[in-house]
Amino acid sequence: MHTPSPSRYSNPALYQRCGRSGLKLPRLSLGLWHNFGDITPHADSRALVLRAFDLGITHFDIANNYGPPVGAAERCFGRILREDLAAHRDELIISTKAGYYGWDGPYGDFGSRKFLLASLDQSLRRLGLDYVDIFYHHRPDPETPLEESMGALAHAVRSGKALYVALSNYNPDQTARAAAILRDLGTPCLLHQPKYHMFDRTVENGLLDVLAREGIGCIPFCPLAQGLLTDRYLDGIPADSRAAHDPRFLKPEHITEAKVVQIRALHALAQARGQSLAQMALAWVLRQPAVTTALIGASKVRQIEDNLGALENPRFTAGELAQIDAILAG
Ligand code: NDP
Repeated sequence: MHTPSPSRYSNPALYQRCGRSGLKLPRLSLGLWHNFGDITPHADSRALVLRAFDLGITHFDIANNYGPPVGAAERCFGRILREDLAAHRDELIISTKAGYYGWDGPYGDFGSRKFLLASLDQSLRRLGLDYVDIFYHHRPDPETPLEESMGALAHAVRSGKALYVALSNYNPDQTARAAAILRDLGTPCLLHQPKYHMFDRTVENGLLDVLAREGIGCIPFCPLAQGLLTDRYLDGIPADSRAAHDPRFLKPEHITEAKVVQIRALHALAQARGQSLAQMALAWVLRQPAVTTALIGASKVRQIEDNLGALENPRFTAGELAQIDAILAG
């Protein structure tokens, strides 16, 4: 059993209210998409979760499909909960999702009531939990009526298997319609999880406005562009980096010469601000009033420590923001 740091809640400013809900989330949350599958030693994954918790990060984001293979990240986190954090369940916000491939056949993917509720039951078994704190529909399903998917989320809450419901990868119009249905069902949408980082600003074209209007929190995923917005790739591709050792999604060919030129310019600006590039990239996402918490990944404990430093210099001058825009336009 892990004995957590007694000072883990020494910074109340770490927590921010999520939209118009009663729930507070830490300004950085830890995601288990990479480094929690069967290709990572359990001790390494465990060290990341326990260090994050010791630093006051109470929110852990998982999904049915995280691994590899599918389900492995939930099994890994379930083991950490059982062996290390069993006494601390009520201090934790644990999220899972369904919407991407879970199993073969017509009921193992997308957004039917059949899939969402069966997937949640599987997730609970892997995690060893009676309920998750937040249950997401992971992506919109063009073939299932929105009322059916949202009805399944509401049912998860009413049956005691989730405390809150959330959406991911929904566009502004889909989000507004889903939010209205969930409100009518008495289970308001807590949180939206979109991709948002300096190289992908799609959410600035409407989604953040919808979230602010609806009182829904926002938790951008991949705020570091899977590691591009860090010092990882300033001089080539290190052997222990994601692009080298687990290139399922971030492939070496994504790290073009033109990207590296932008990354180096952003790095220089971050240094001038007295920050690491990762810290500046996180502060840049968190500067949006609609953003509640940034959903980071990490392969090393020291990355989590470094990233929390983002909160020490959160403000940007208009000139700095213009410089960032100019670099990104270059
Ligand atoms: P990030 O953009 O934060 O990238 C994380 C990677 O950046 C790390 O693995 C590490 O790379 C590198 N890194 C992090 N901190 C530092 C640092 N201080 N210095 C140097 N390098 C650093 O996020 P992820 O891509 O990991 O995604 C985060 C979470 O978002 C996922 O775990 C998941 O929960 C969620 N997600 C949700 C999706 C959805 O559809 N809803 C889709 C994708 C992600 P390295 O491994 O090379 O060391």
